Amino acid sequence: MKLATRTTRIVPSATLNISATAKSMVTQGVDVVDFSAGEPACDTPEVVKAAAKAAITDGFTKYTPASGIDELKEAIVEKFSRDQGIHYEKSQILVSCGAKHTLYNVAQALLNPGDEVIIPAPYWVSYPDIVRLADGQPVLLETKESHGYALDPKQLEASVTPRTRALILNSPCNPTGTLYTRETLEALADVAKRHGFLVISDDIYEQLVYGETPFLSIVSAVPEIADQTLVVNGVSKAFSMTGWRIGYAGGPKALIAAMAMIQSQSTSNPTSISQKASVAALREGTPFFKELLADLGPKRRLMIDTLNAIPGITCPTPAGAFYAFPNVSGVLGKRHANGTLTTSTDLATYLLHEAHIACVPGEPFGSPHHLRLTYTPTLDAIERGMQRFKKAIQSLA
Ligand code: PMP
Ligand code: GLU
Repeated sequence: MKLATRTTRIVPSATLNISATAKSMVTQGVDVVDFSAGEPACDTPEVVKAAAKAAITDGFTKYTPASGIDELKEAIVEKFSRDQGIHYEKSQILVSCGAKHTLYNVAQALLNPGDEVIIPAPYWVSYPDIVRLADGQPVLLETKESHGYALDPKQLEASVTPRTRALILNSPCNPTGTLYTRETLEALADVAKRHGFLVISDDIYEQLVYGETPFLSIVSAVPEIADQTLVVNGVSKAFSMTGWRIGYAGGPKALIAAMAMIQSQSTSNPTSISQKASVAALREGTPFFKELLADLGPKRRLMIDTLNAIPGITCPTPAGAFYAFPNVSGVLGKRHANGTLTTSTDLATYLLHEAHIACVPGEPFGSPHHLRLTYTPTLDAIERGMQRFKKAIQSLA
């Protein structure tokens, strides 16, 4: 069958693909330690489940307004006001089927063919393909480990062209864990203001910050940038609700209206039941993510320390999110019984099939010398997986 050329411009999501392979190996009885999935391991909070059950019992099971129910928009307005100090009207809020869908909508609403979107690398795997699906051109800017993988405002300035329409900023960052400082955010906002492009601030890991420095969204650091910023967030990570598919955004009215129109002609409303559940998450879920963070702290330590003790591997401690992003350059080029590990994809494949550890190679994140490992599994599983990892690396020649 002849398919549209846009299908040739993108690849399947590597993160979802590898997680699906790992899950299917487990179903077949293989004891895989899964460090590939980008989701918390714990269950969705009871208070959220109770709200969903009540929605079903009460028959809240029909179409809702395509852009989301008023009650959830109100809870989102409250959330932005409480946590970011930014005051939106309900007409500035859109609820979508996950933050990925929010990002898809903004690309569709903003970009004409050839329009450029600046994306700091390493980046979350879906950003460039979401831009390509909207006929846009991703402009990938490499950041340095020595600068904590934060985008340098001078580098941003030098990359702006008349076709630049947006910058995607992700703090804390998937996969590096980078948390942007106030100073850098102010300098980036200054470039955006002078050139007038949109800042897409993906704050989905907002609650998952480990050190003393708190999370700061660009709109909190520089409130004047709010009229050219789309703040993207969702309930997936903070409330362990990845399967419920609710993301949301706050931003300029005209942009939100255009995104809502696209949504009304594509998916219609996000699931009515999940919307009710998300109201409970945003209004009553704060104790849950505090527990989640307390649980993740020691897991992060165990994984990072074990990785750094393996010859050929170095791994900075991530400030936020729940991913380790080790540099594996010292291992690439080594040999195993069936061949040479030339790329990080070779290494991830070797680890999956020989050591039964699932992790994501660096290539789809725009960083070919790295692997990404999620540290959400239990401490026991991390211990077990890391022992296998170490053994598999030590057995290379
Ligand atoms: N942004 C980032 C940086 C992510 O890691 C994810 C992970 N899924 C998303 C957006 C999308 O999340 P969801 O669609 O589950 O809300
Ligand atoms: N964002 C998560 C990840 O990076 C979930 C999978 C996806 O949507 O990419 O693994």
